[in-house]
Amino acid sequence: MRSYFIAGNWKMHKTAAESAALASELREKLAGCKEKVMVAPAFTALSEVSKVLAGSSILLGAQNMGPEEQGAHTGEVSVLMLKDLGVKVVILGHSERRHTYLETDELINKKVLLALKHGLEVILCVGETLEEREAGRLEEVVGTQIEKGLASVPAEKLPMVTIAYEPVWAIGTGKTATPEDADAVHAYCRKVLAGMYGEEAARSMVIQYGGSVKPDNAATLMGMPNIDGALVGGASLKADTFVPIACFR
Ligand code: PEP
Repeated sequence: MRSYFIAGNWKMHKTAAESAALASELREKLAGCKEKVMVAPAFTALSEVSKVLAGSSILLGAQNMGPEEQGAHTGEVSVLMLKDLGVKVVILGHSERRHTYLETDELINKKVLLALKHGLEVILCVGETLEEREAGRLEEVVGTQIEKGLASVPAEKLPMVTIAYEPVWAIGTGKTATPEDADAVHAYCRKVLAGMYGEEAARSMVIQYGGSVKPDNAATLMGMPNIDGALVGGASLKADTFVPIACFR
């Protein structure tokens, strides 16, 4: 059976207590869920959520991490600190990091290599802005983000990497790419990956779709041949909306 990976990105929402309460509700309601599921609370809630999720099948994720192991980097959080709290997956290159905090492909690649070196799984986010799409630059932008983001990542580390295709214009806006449109971009991502790692490796890569995924569009999106999961923002903040997405089949 095809495997899917559904991830919730809680962004800058919820206190530690609120996060623990949601994690506890998800632990109970997702007990029978057959998909791979991850939630990424804010850094300040990782410790509490880690305790709640211990021994469950829900993976603990982080929304970002610093590009160095340790040192004089005020405000950064290291891969070693994340691992210490039980984090298994880190989201890197989210469009909010790229566009609001001006993270470059080179910086993101440094983080990708560091996370993989320390055994964390990576969700590498890619996606075009509306201006880039309208200027016909979608493939160039997404292709470059994948190639540069995965530079020097050896083929044997690929099972630790998930690509999340998130059109920037669809994030938090209520606008979703049509399933056909999203699938075509996912197919293009696979073509880029095949150029880097070969057809077989590209076929087995998990490529999530992200951008206003909701209970009512999740099954259609994930029913497309090249869409292997979802990275969910807004709808991951409540069990009522996240559970039906995670258990969409
Ligand atoms: C996201 O943050 O990655 C995201 C897709 O957000 P939303 O689901 O709210 O569009």
